[in-house]
Amino acid sequence: MKKVLIASFQYEACGLSKIFPTEADFEVAEGQRVFEKLPVKDIFEEAHIEPIPTFYANALPGGMLTKALFEEFAKKILSRMQEYPMADGILLCCHGSCEVEQIGSGELELLRRIREIFGKTVPVAVSFDLHANIDVRIIDLIDIVCGYKTAPHTDQATTQRAAAKLLVKALEGQPMKTCIVKVPMLASGDAMLTAEEPLKSLIEETRQAEKDDVFRVNLFFSHMWVDAPNTCASVTVTASDEEKARSVAKVFARKFWETRREYRFLVATGSVEECVRKSLQESAGRVFLTDSGDNTTAGAEGNRLDILEAFLSEDIRQKKICISGITSKKIVSECLQKRAGDKVTIPMSGGTREGLILRFGKILGWAKDIVGDSVSVNVGGICVIFTEKRSAFISEENFRLAKEDIKDYDIVVVKQGYLFSELTPFCDKQYFVMSDGASCVDIRRLGLKRIPRPMFPLDDFEIDINKGDF
Ligand SMILES: [Zn+2]
Repeated sequence: MKKVLIASFQYEACGLSKIFPTEADFEVAEGQRVFEKLPVKDIFEEAHIEPIPTFYANALPGGMLTKALFEEFAKKILSRMQEYPMADGILLCCHGSCEVEQIGSGELELLRRIREIFGKTVPVAVSFDLHANIDVRIIDLIDIVCGYKTAPHTDQATTQRAAAKLLVKALEGQPMKTCIVKVPMLASGDAMLTAEEPLKSLIEETRQAEKDDVFRVNLFFSHMWVDAPNTCASVTVTASDEEKARSVAKVFARKFWETRREYRFLVATGSVEECVRKSLQESAGRVFLTDSGDNTTAGAEGNRLDILEAFLSEDIRQKKICISGITSKKIVSECLQKRAGDKVTIPMSGGTREGLILRFGKILGWAKDIVGDSVSVNVGGICVIFTEKRSAFISEENFRLAKEDIKDYDIVVVKQGYLFSELTPFCDKQYFVMSDGASCVDIRRLGLKRIPRPMFPLDDFEIDINKGDF
């Protein structure tokens, strides 16, 4: 029976974030529990291939990964893989923007080491996030690439399963080759939503192109918060041979490039003060404010109080306001020594403020495990959820575990950019707050120095699509 080794290491690095994750920030799974996170077991078993789970690790995006932590995880994956030197195939589920100090692309390094063990001929399938900054050298190390096709992401499992299915096909004898074409553009991920044009049609075209000898077509939007030589959009195509893959990739690279001026924010935007004031003036329905500069789902610290302080300087009248997911280990541990109804001191930029402890809850991790404690505190009439670790309130479930009900509030603040789709049913009006922080959405303010140039929109340049620049 053929054997396939399965591993996952998913981490999105935000180079501007000061948070350096530790091992404890990762949700990990080993043995059969890996399949609770990666739903691919049935695909291999039905094809009479033995799936061997090795290791799974996933964390909320944060700052660059330290070399030591990368080595730790690489060792866990590789030592288990080494127990099966005769494995027939490998499935690796990654993010694609894991930047490691002193190493660069973590995915590239991991794949290099995998090839050192298994040689060149064992088929390797990889799944990537849509925001992967794919290093072109990765393509020489893999056979199959499948990327997400939705932003906000809803097709993680489908994508991992697609990669598993193509790996089965490769193991059944189908030749597979992947090509990449880099597209010299960067855009804020928050302006690139796949339910909206031009991406809606473009993604649909990638699906239409997946037929006959073309197995997978992906657009990767890039992740502009990493200052690295591989930070750039790209197109990958997995097909039966290189020529076919390259010609389709070029077609889609041109199409993608031609849309570059069309990406803009589709919801109301403004400064912290503008958005806070306007949200207080809304008369009907529930308003969401997304604190885009301190977006934990993009790797920011999640500890900024700008929006809370702006609300406190306004007359909030009868509005019920919930500010979710402000990271403060200090405040949470202090509250855990106390009870609901007790007072707690909240440090602010202009001194301190007294808060009243409302309730205690839990935080849901990125991979849906419970990862720590939260506490809701009444600060000046506003319910603020403090979390002991960085968190992302991306669904109703996050609020429920924190013992809050979104439906109780008129105004909800989340540390996101675009609003996650699980929250949109609760949102009547969204304000995209152009706030400061490690995930600031203004590309020009990021000071990127190591990215390839020219790069749109930092440089104004044209590519002659007929001269084969792609
Ligand atoms: Zn992503």
